[in-house]
Amino acid sequence: MKNRFLAGFLALVLMALCVLMIPAPAASAQESEETVAEPEQEAAEEATPSAPPVSAERPTVPEITDPLPDVDIHSWEFALCNSYNSRGWITCQRGNLEGIGIDERIREAAATLMADARAAGYTIYMARAYLNTEWLENMYLTTLWVCNYDPVLTARSFQGPGVSEHQTGLAIDFTDSIAYAANYEFQFEDPEIFDSELFAWLMEHCADYGFVFRYPEEKAPWYGTACHHAHFRYVGVEAAKFMVEHDLCLEEFLSLYDPDLVYIPDNGRLA
Ligand SMILES: [Zn+2]
Repeated sequence: MKNRFLAGFLALVLMALCVLMIPAPAASAQESEETVAEPEQEAAEEATPSAPPVSAERPTVPEITDPLPDVDIHSWEFALCNSYNSRGWITCQRGNLEGIGIDERIREAAATLMADARAAGYTIYMARAYLNTEWLENMYLTTLWVCNYDPVLTARSFQGPGVSEHQTGLAIDFTDSIAYAANYEFQFEDPEIFDSELFAWLMEHCADYGFVFRYPEEKAPWYGTACHHAHFRYVGVEAAKFMVEHDLCLEEFLSLYDPDLVYIPDNGRLA
C-alpha cells in the first residue's frame, strides 16, 4: 500500500511538471479557437512536439499510385487507436518481454529488433509497452486534476483509457536509458531519446521488423495527441515498409483502403 501511495504521489508530481510545459493558449477550447493563427501560438506549438493538432483543415488522404500492400486492414495489426478512435474491438494477447507486458503476437519481432540493435552496439530497452486500463484511468484522473478538470486540456495532454495505443500492447516506447526503463510505471519521459544514435538506428531499421515511428509531428492532425516518447507501433513488415517508403502515418495508410475508417473531427481538433 505504501508503495502504491508513493507511486501515486510521484505520478502527481510528474504530471504537474508535464502540464507546466503545455502551451498556454490551450487553456480553453474557446481561447484556442480564437488564437490559432497567432504567431505566439505557432511558436508554442513548434516548441512542443507533443502539442495537440491545431490545423483548421481536415487532413486529406494522400494520392498514392503504387499498388497497396495486400493486407487485411481489419486484422489486429491495424487496430486503430488515437485521440479520435478507440481501440474498440481489439484485445491484447498478453505476453511478456524482458519483464514488460506486450502483445504476444509481436513479442518475437520486438525481441529480434532489440537483439539486432544490441548486436549493432546500441543500448536499448522498452520503456513502456502494454499499459492496462486501471493504470491509464488513474493517470487520466491525475491529469484531469492537474488540468483543473478541463477535459479538452486533459485530452491534449494525455492519451487516456480507450484511446491509448499502449492498451493494445502493439506499441513500444524505446529508450537507451535504464533509468527510464526501470521507472516506466511513473510515465517518466526520455526527452533525449530523439537526439540519440539509437533513435536514428530505429528510424532506419524499424520497418525491417514491422514497426513504424507512430507520431511524426507533422502528422498530428491525423492522430491527435501523441504519446510523448519514442513510440513505435507494430503493423507488420510489408505495411511498415510501405508506410516508410511513402511517408505515411498509420491513419493515412488505413485511409488509402477505407477513408471512412479513420474518424477525425471536422475541424481537425480535439473536441
Ligand atoms: Zn508510447
